Amino acid sequence: MIKLIITKQKPNLLKNLEKYNKIFIIGCGNCATICKTGGENEVKALAEKLGDKVIGNIVIESPCNLKFLKKDLKPFMYSNAEVIVALCCGVGVQSIVEFTNKEVIPGLDTLFLGEVGIKGRFYERCRACGTCILYETGGICPISRCAKKLLNGPCGGMVNEKCEVGNYSKDCAWILIYKRLKELGRDFEKIIEVHNWQNKPGELILGD
Ligand code: SF4
Ligand code: SF4
Repeated sequence: MIKLIITKQKPNLLKNLEKYNKIFIIGCGNCATICKTGGENEVKALAEKLGDKVIGNIVIESPCNLKFLKKDLKPFMYSNAEVIVALCCGVGVQSIVEFTNKEVIPGLDTLFLGEVGIKGRFYERCRACGTCILYETGGICPISRCAKKLLNGPCGGMVNEKCEVGNYSKDCAWILIYKRLKELGRDFEKIIEVHNWQNKPGELILGD
Protein backbone atom coordinates (compact mmCIF):
# COMPACT_ATOMS: atom_id res chain seq x y z
CA MET A 1 0.00 0.00 0.00
CA ILE A 2 1.16 3.54 -0.66
CA LYS A 3 -0.26 6.77 0.66
CA LEU A 4 -1.21 9.78 -1.41
CA ILE A 5 -2.88 13.12 -1.27
CA ILE A 6 -6.15 12.39 -3.05
CA THR A 7 -7.63 14.99 -5.38
CA LYS A 8 -10.52 15.32 -7.80
CA GLN A 9 -10.95 17.68 -10.71
CA LYS A 10 -12.90 20.86 -10.07
CA PRO A 11 -16.19 20.79 -11.98
CA ASN A 12 -16.27 24.48 -12.89
CA LEU A 13 -12.64 25.01 -13.89
CA LEU A 14 -13.29 25.91 -17.53
CA LYS A 15 -15.89 28.50 -16.52
CA ASN A 16 -13.45 30.04 -14.04
CA LEU A 17 -10.88 30.35 -16.83
CA GLU A 18 -13.17 32.00 -19.37
CA LYS A 19 -11.86 35.52 -18.74
CA TYR A 20 -8.19 34.60 -19.26
CA ASN A 21 -6.39 34.51 -22.58
CA LYS A 22 -2.86 33.54 -21.54
CA ILE A 23 -2.87 30.46 -19.37
CA PHE A 24 0.02 28.30 -18.16
CA ILE A 25 -0.78 24.82 -16.80
CA ILE A 26 1.25 22.95 -14.17
CA GLY A 27 0.63 19.29 -13.45
CA CYS A 28 1.94 16.98 -10.74
CA GLY A 29 3.99 13.89 -11.57
CA ASN A 30 3.33 12.29 -8.23
CA CYS A 31 0.00 12.09 -6.35
CA ALA A 32 -2.17 13.78 -9.01
CA THR A 33 -0.70 11.54 -11.70
CA ILE A 34 -1.64 8.43 -9.72
CA CYS A 35 -5.11 9.88 -9.04
CA LYS A 36 -5.43 10.61 -12.78
CA THR A 37 -6.35 14.20 -11.97
CA GLY A 38 -3.20 16.16 -12.87
CA GLY A 39 -0.66 14.04 -14.74
CA GLU A 40 0.56 14.28 -18.34
CA ASN A 41 -2.77 13.05 -19.76
CA GLU A 42 -4.91 15.44 -17.77
CA VAL A 43 -2.63 18.41 -18.49
CA LYS A 44 -2.77 17.59 -22.20
CA ALA A 45 -6.57 17.19 -22.12
CA LEU A 46 -7.02 20.55 -20.39
CA ALA A 47 -4.62 22.22 -22.83
CA GLU A 48 -6.62 20.83 -25.76
CA LYS A 49 -9.87 22.14 -24.31
CA LEU A 50 -8.40 25.61 -23.77
CA GLY A 51 -6.76 25.69 -27.22
CA ASP A 52 -4.61 28.67 -28.15
CA LYS A 53 -5.25 30.36 -24.80
CA VAL A 54 -2.54 28.07 -23.38
CA ILE A 55 0.96 29.53 -23.60
CA GLY A 56 2.63 26.43 -22.13
CA ASN A 57 2.44 23.58 -19.71
CA ILE A 58 4.66 21.36 -17.60
CA VAL A 59 4.31 18.38 -15.28
CA ILE A 60 6.61 18.74 -12.28
CA GLU A 61 7.62 15.72 -10.24
CA SER A 62 6.14 17.15 -7.03
CA PRO A 63 4.97 20.78 -7.19
CA CYS A 64 4.62 20.72 -3.39
CA ASN A 65 8.43 20.51 -3.22
CA LEU A 66 10.17 23.84 -3.83
CA LYS A 67 13.32 21.99 -4.87
CA PHE A 68 11.51 20.43 -7.83
CA LEU A 69 9.76 23.68 -8.68
CA LYS A 70 13.07 25.55 -8.77
CA LYS A 71 14.68 22.83 -10.85
CA ASP A 72 11.95 22.48 -13.49
CA LEU A 73 9.93 25.68 -13.62
CA LYS A 74 11.80 28.55 -15.28
CA PRO A 75 10.37 32.09 -15.16
CA PHE A 76 10.48 32.48 -18.96
CA MET A 77 7.95 29.66 -19.26
CA TYR A 78 5.18 31.39 -17.35
CA SER A 79 6.16 35.06 -17.16
CA ASN A 80 3.66 36.12 -19.87
CA ALA A 81 0.82 34.15 -18.34
CA GLU A 82 -2.15 36.01 -16.87
CA VAL A 83 -2.87 33.01 -14.71
CA ILE A 84 -1.39 29.61 -13.81
CA VAL A 85 -3.70 26.61 -13.48
CA ALA A 86 -2.34 24.14 -10.94
CA LEU A 87 -3.45 20.54 -11.31
CA CYS A 88 -2.11 19.46 -7.92
CA CYS A 89 -3.05 19.44 -4.25
CA GLY A 90 -3.52 22.55 -2.15
CA VAL A 91 0.05 22.33 -0.88
CA GLY A 92 1.35 22.36 -4.45
CA VAL A 93 -0.90 25.30 -5.32
CA GLN A 94 0.55 27.32 -2.46
CA SER A 95 4.13 26.41 -3.37
CA ILE A 96 3.46 27.62 -6.92
CA VAL A 97 1.98 30.88 -5.60
CA GLU A 98 5.05 31.46 -3.43
CA PHE A 99 7.52 30.54 -6.15
CA THR A 100 5.95 32.39 -9.10
CA ASN A 101 4.12 35.25 -7.36
CA LYS A 102 1.47 34.85 -10.07
CA GLU A 103 -2.26 34.46 -9.85
CA VAL A 104 -2.82 30.71 -9.50
CA ILE A 105 -6.13 28.89 -9.92
CA PRO A 106 -6.41 25.43 -8.37
CA GLY A 107 -7.74 22.95 -10.89
CA LEU A 108 -8.33 20.25 -8.30
CA ASP A 109 -10.11 19.84 -5.00
CA THR A 110 -7.89 18.25 -2.35
CA LEU A 111 -9.86 15.58 -0.54
CA PHE A 112 -7.78 13.59 1.92
CA LEU A 113 -4.64 11.61 2.69
CA GLY A 114 -5.45 8.25 1.23
CA GLU A 115 -4.44 4.66 1.29
CA VAL A 116 -4.19 3.19 -2.20
CA GLY A 117 -5.79 -0.20 -2.47
CA ILE A 118 -5.98 -2.76 -5.23
CA LYS A 119 -7.63 -1.76 -8.53
CA GLY A 120 -6.52 1.85 -7.96
CA ARG A 121 -9.17 2.60 -5.36
CA PHE A 122 -8.47 5.31 -2.81
CA TYR A 123 -9.59 5.06 0.78
CA GLU A 124 -9.79 8.09 3.05
CA ARG A 125 -7.72 7.30 6.10
CA CYS A 126 -6.28 10.50 7.61
CA ARG A 127 -7.09 14.20 7.67
CA ALA A 128 -3.81 15.18 9.30
CA CYS A 129 -5.65 16.51 12.36
CA GLY A 130 -2.51 16.97 14.45
CA THR A 131 -3.67 14.89 17.46
CA CYS A 132 -3.77 11.26 16.48
CA ILE A 133 -6.23 9.17 18.48
CA LEU A 134 -5.75 5.92 16.59
CA TYR A 135 -4.63 4.08 19.73
CA GLU A 136 -7.88 4.95 21.53
CA THR A 137 -9.94 3.93 18.52
CA GLY A 138 -8.18 0.66 17.71
CA GLY A 139 -6.53 1.96 14.56
CA ILE A 140 -9.68 3.24 12.82
CA CYS A 141 -9.81 7.00 12.34
CA PRO A 142 -13.20 8.55 13.12
CA ILE A 143 -12.13 11.94 11.82
CA SER A 144 -11.74 10.40 8.36
CA ARG A 145 -14.43 7.77 8.48
CA CYS A 146 -17.28 9.11 10.62
CA ALA A 147 -19.48 11.37 8.50
CA LYS A 148 -19.90 13.81 11.41
CA LYS A 149 -16.29 13.54 12.63
CA LEU A 150 -17.54 12.46 16.05
CA LEU A 151 -14.97 11.60 18.71
CA ASN A 152 -17.41 9.58 20.80
CA GLY A 153 -19.93 7.70 18.72
CA PRO A 154 -22.07 6.22 17.49
CA CYS A 155 -24.67 8.93 17.11
CA GLY A 156 -28.42 8.47 16.88
CA GLY A 157 -28.17 8.26 13.11
CA MET A 158 -26.75 4.73 13.21
CA VAL A 159 -29.24 2.05 12.15
CA ASN A 160 -28.28 -1.61 11.81
CA GLU A 161 -24.60 -0.63 12.00
CA LYS A 162 -24.99 1.71 9.00
CA CYS A 163 -24.62 5.51 8.89
CA GLU A 164 -27.58 7.74 8.09
CA VAL A 165 -25.31 10.07 6.12
CA GLY A 166 -25.09 8.55 2.64
CA ASN A 167 -28.47 6.83 3.05
CA TYR A 168 -27.15 3.89 5.08
CA SER A 169 -24.76 2.78 2.35
CA LYS A 170 -21.69 2.84 4.59
CA ASP A 171 -20.74 1.17 7.84
CA CYS A 172 -20.88 3.40 10.91
CA ALA A 173 -17.25 4.14 11.74
CA TRP A 174 -17.95 3.87 15.44
CA ILE A 175 -19.39 0.38 15.08
CA LEU A 176 -16.19 -0.56 13.23
CA ILE A 177 -14.18 0.96 16.08
CA TYR A 178 -16.05 -0.97 18.78
CA LYS A 179 -15.73 -4.22 16.85
CA ARG A 180 -12.02 -3.67 16.32
CA LEU A 181 -11.46 -2.89 20.00
CA LYS A 182 -13.34 -6.07 20.90
CA GLU A 183 -11.07 -8.07 18.55
CA LEU A 184 -8.13 -6.56 20.39
CA GLY A 185 -9.64 -7.58 23.71
CA ARG A 186 -10.21 -3.98 24.70
CA ASP A 187 -13.14 -1.82 25.65
CA PHE A 188 -13.51 1.80 24.72
CA GLU A 189 -11.34 3.06 27.53
CA LYS A 190 -12.15 6.74 27.79
CA ILE A 191 -14.28 9.48 26.41
CA ILE A 192 -12.17 11.26 23.84
CA GLU A 193 -11.94 14.91 24.72
CA VAL A 194 -12.82 17.76 22.42
CA HIS A 195 -10.20 17.97 19.69
CA ASN A 196 -7.03 19.59 20.95
CA TRP A 197 -6.26 22.37 18.50
CA GLN A 198 -3.16 23.37 20.52
CA ASN A 199 -1.24 20.96 18.31
CA LYS A 200 -2.21 22.92 15.21
CA PRO A 201 -1.89 26.60 16.07
CA GLY A 202 -2.43 27.98 12.58
CA GLU A 203 0.36 27.40 10.12
CA LEU A 204 2.75 24.71 11.35
CA ILE A 205 6.43 24.95 10.50
CA LEU A 206 8.65 22.00 11.37
CA GLY A 207 12.37 21.54 10.85
CA ASP A 208 15.33 23.94 10.92
S1 SF4 B 1 -6.81 10.83 14.30
FE1 SF4 B 1 -7.21 10.42 12.14
S2 SF4 B 1 -7.01 12.42 11.15
FE2 SF4 B 1 -6.02 12.59 13.15
S3 SF4 B 1 -3.83 12.12 12.71
FE3 SF4 B 1 -4.82 10.19 13.40
S4 SF4 B 1 -5.43 9.18 11.49
FE4 SF4 B 1 -5.03 11.34 10.95
S1 SF4 C 1 -23.85 6.88 12.24
FE1 SF4 C 1 -21.73 6.44 12.87
S2 SF4 C 1 -20.43 7.10 11.14
FE2 SF4 C 1 -22.46 8.01 10.84
S3 SF4 C 1 -22.29 10.05 11.75
FE3 SF4 C 1 -23.14 8.68 13.35
S4 SF4 C 1 -21.35 7.94 14.49
FE4 SF4 C 1 -20.57 8.84 12.56
